[in-house]
Amino acid sequence: MSQELPSFFREILIGVGEDPEREGLLDTPKRAAKAMQYLCHGYQKSLEEVVNGALFASDNDEMVIVKDVELYSLCEHHLLPFIGKAHVAYIPTGKVLGLSKVARIVDMYARRLQIQENLTRQIAEAVQQVTNAAGVAVVIEAKHMCMMMRGVEKQNSVMSTSVMLGVFRESSNTRHEFLQLIGRSH
Ligand SMILES: [Zn+2]
Repeated sequence: MSQELPSFFREILIGVGEDPEREGLLDTPKRAAKAMQYLCHGYQKSLEEVVNGALFASDNDEMVIVKDVELYSLCEHHLLPFIGKAHVAYIPTGKVLGLSKVARIVDMYARRLQIQENLTRQIAEAVQQVTNAAGVAVVIEAKHMCMMMRGVEKQNSVMSTSVMLGVFRESSNTRHEFLQLIGRSH
């Protein structure tokens, strides 16, 4: 963590009209800096490190789908959380990813300052790059605190984004099968 980060949070306390010397706030700059560093820990990771060789040869050429991956991120416009779920699918061409790795890839990109559209694309392209799949699909559904907490009064609106690569883009059957499997189509 940058040595200066706690002092920046102290400035924020002053900026919003607080007294950083009052008892309840004495350790807040340090704690907030630590929390912020955790929420942004994706910057310290690389795709190679996260995947760590967990690619396995496989004859399977059927869709692999990982549903309901919990997602916690921070919007880059307001530094407020957006929280939701990612659904990731790919069609392998000889290699499959270790089960936990999809969730770790999601986490690596989510733990950075993001907008949901870019996050969705980065996850899809990373899975594509690592697996050399015939296609990758990612759907993210998330609630944004910057909409819910700032009086826009869209408390229950869920933002949905998707990126389809390869066969998911080219074949409406494949895309439809995926959307059905994640309960997004009838
Ligand atoms: Zn925002």
